[in-house]
Amino acid sequence: MEKGILLVVDDSEMARNFHTNILLAHGFRVITAEDGADALEKMYQHESIGMIITDINMPNMDGYTFIEKIREDDAFEELPIIIVSTEDEAKDKQHGFDVGANVYIVKPTEPEELVENIRLLLG
Ligand SMILES: [Mg+2]
Repeated sequence: MEKGILLVVDDSEMARNFHTNILLAHGFRVITAEDGADALEKMYQHESIGMIITDINMPNMDGYTFIEKIREDDAFEELPIIIVSTEDEAKDKQHGFDVGANVYIVKPTEPEELVENIRLLLG
């Protein structure tokens, strides 16, 4: 089955590679972006992005703003979005859900938790 492309957004190259390697090992196709602005551009360059996995704290455009902009577009109303962030307070998670994230995972990411949530969101 076509799984679509997962977009991994993180300003840390180490975090991007870590998450990308987990996903590649599970047979997903991945593209990456370095911040929210870069990610927003890539959303409109690649039509088959099926899910976003994004950091929050990033230069240029943070994850909250990126998600807000994605959800403003009717085409992306149902697109699954996972936040992966070091911010672990309830207010951060609430902010994430308020802007439209489906899942909030606190770093350091447990590979099983990430993959399990992706599978749940893909149905
Ligand atoms: Mg960051």
